[in-house]
Amino acid sequence: MNRPDLQGYGMTSLRSRERLVAQLQQMGIRHSGVLEAIKTVPRHLFMDEALSSRAYENSALPIGLGQTISQPYIVARMSEVVVADNPDKVLEIGTGCGYQTAILATLCREVLTIERIRSLYERARSNLRQVGVRNAYQRFGDGYEGWERYAPFDAIVVTAAPSTIPQTLLQQLTEGGRLVLPVGGTEEQQLLAITRRGDEFEEQWLEAVKFVPMLGGTAV
Ligand code: SAH
Repeated sequence: MNRPDLQGYGMTSLRSRERLVAQLQQMGIRHSGVLEAIKTVPRHLFMDEALSSRAYENSALPIGLGQTISQPYIVARMSEVVVADNPDKVLEIGTGCGYQTAILATLCREVLTIERIRSLYERARSNLRQVGVRNAYQRFGDGYEGWERYAPFDAIVVTAAPSTIPQTLLQQLTEGGRLVLPVGGTEEQQLLAITRRGDEFEEQWLEAVKFVPMLGGTAV
């Protein structure tokens, strides 16, 4: 019978993920839960088949509509900062194909995620279902508004770059909650972690990064 060799395929991708994990460790990722999540979540299932052979390279890759699946190192780095305080409820802005959503879903009780392009929102829904994620709640909308109904959040992770820090998102953090986001122009941005201390916000610079821009409004 002409059946794909699923077990063999699974083992190949597991070995590729283990190599990727080793690479991320060398780059300074230490959190065991994050490394385990990278080892577990099948990144190739979030991408177009034509590119899936490159799924375990440590690089950002196109997912269509001018958008990308983030580089595994960046997903790991942001997740590490986000999960440091064991957050219960995390908001992600920029679902894209849903890969980082899936990583966060293995680390937190619930993940809420917002995407402004309808076709990506729908694709992420089927990707997340396919890999068996059940604690992620998606919204089609503009991430600049956050998600008031479910606020406050223990952490908010923004995976597209605004030119300035969105104040609405700061207001939707719990006390001690943390916003992780790239801020800056189109060529390069600074990755920041901002922690809420009452009405004050403590800023920490992490590193230089390059994300797609965070745009307002919604698109089909
Ligand atoms: N988290 C994704 C990264 C996707 S790229 C991953 O794991 O690979 C960033 C995504 O942010 C794009 O899909 C883009 O459409 C989306 N985006 C940009 N501006 C947004 C906004 N204002 N609200 C919600 N999503 C936005």
